[in-house]
Amino acid sequence: MINVDKIREDFPILKRTVHEKPLVYFDNAATSQTPQIVIDTIVDYYSNYNANIHRGVHTLSQEATDKYEEARIKIQQHFNAKKAYEIILTSGTTHSINMVASGFASLLQKDDEIIVSALEHHSNIVPWQMLCEKTGAILKVIPMNDEGGLQMDIFHQLISKKTKLVFCNHVSNALGTVNLIEEIIDTAHKFGAAVLIDGAQATPHIKPDVQALDVDFYVASAHKLCGPTGVGMLYGKEEWLQKLPPYQGGGEMIETVTFKKTTYAGLPHKFEAGTPNICGGIAFGAAIDYMNSIGFNEIAAYEHELLEYATSELLKIEGLKIYGTSAKKTAVVSFNVANIHPYDIGSILDKLGIAVRTGHHCAQPIMDYYQIPGTVRASFSFYNTKAEIDVLVKGVRRAVMMLG
Ligand SMILES: *Cc1c(COP(=O)(O)O)cnc(C)c1O
Repeated sequence: MINVDKIREDFPILKRTVHEKPLVYFDNAATSQTPQIVIDTIVDYYSNYNANIHRGVHTLSQEATDKYEEARIKIQQHFNAKKAYEIILTSGTTHSINMVASGFASLLQKDDEIIVSALEHHSNIVPWQMLCEKTGAILKVIPMNDEGGLQMDIFHQLISKKTKLVFCNHVSNALGTVNLIEEIIDTAHKFGAAVLIDGAQATPHIKPDVQALDVDFYVASAHKLCGPTGVGMLYGKEEWLQKLPPYQGGGEMIETVTFKKTTYAGLPHKFEAGTPNICGGIAFGAAIDYMNSIGFNEIAAYEHELLEYATSELLKIEGLKIYGTSAKKTAVVSFNVANIHPYDIGSILDKLGIAVRTGHHCAQPIMDYYQIPGTVRASFSFYNTKAEIDVLVKGVRRAVMMLG
């Protein structure tokens, strides 16, 4: 059971006010808040052992290296990767996806096919379009349905021996739909295609097991699961990481350098050119520890309760429509009220201290499907409360009265 009052004590930002109202933070799908223990980890790093890693013989450098590599092992264990070197630390999901996309440029041929889902974040569409332009490969899209899920029958028709890659998010950031990634992975593998799953939106709520999923690549950002911004991960099966060429040239990723020939370092360093976000990586490990200390089963159960409560209370408002009604979804409510522009509702809510996201949520194709300019999106975390949802519902009613 979640003790939410106790958990809220861990997050200093939750004590602040906005426009003289207590902050109600419902923009967790964009970024999560940071617990004191992660903030302390960051302060400790810069106060006590800030140094560049892997290269120095001196004590500070060794301490920083040890902590950084400990964080990699925490991430490995959390995602149940077979080897620590299958975890590449990146600057975030976008960086991780671009790494894989750019690596595949050398593996694809003209008329090979890539399948992406219609529920993607822009960061998961643009790199594949660029890859197709570069290689002559063809991009195919799994269409969505009214509930905000994927038309899986069409996926089964699209996939063939020509398919080399399938990309899908584990959870849609705009709607919260949990996608049927097991079915996607199993099917893709029958045709010899690799699968990359974007876990940016799933990892705050679900603890994925990359070996059980048998997924080829899995990516996530620390800042969505109580860690800092600017750091994330790429999990890749060893065989794939060996096959892909390095993403960037620079320090750290080389074994020997002469002007005739450079040989690349082994994993994970082959993909970690330059000085990484050392402090961020260590804090990412601390965030994972923190989330696990609360427990993902407890988090999922509590957030589901918040989702059900918010859904039923919001639906009592006349003219309110929720987008994304899949039976399996995370704690995200995307909605509009009658013809009121989502931005106008969001602005009034801000005056009441309530932080929600409005707009297309980096997922324009979903908005086009519903033929709307955007939605108001309230996304919940385990540190939110039902009382805060009451504040939101009251706020939306007030906004509708003023704007309707
Ligand atoms: C947030 C998000 C991203 C982008 O993550 P960055 O940390 O901005 O790189 C990609 N995909 C999904 C589903 C997201 O929610």
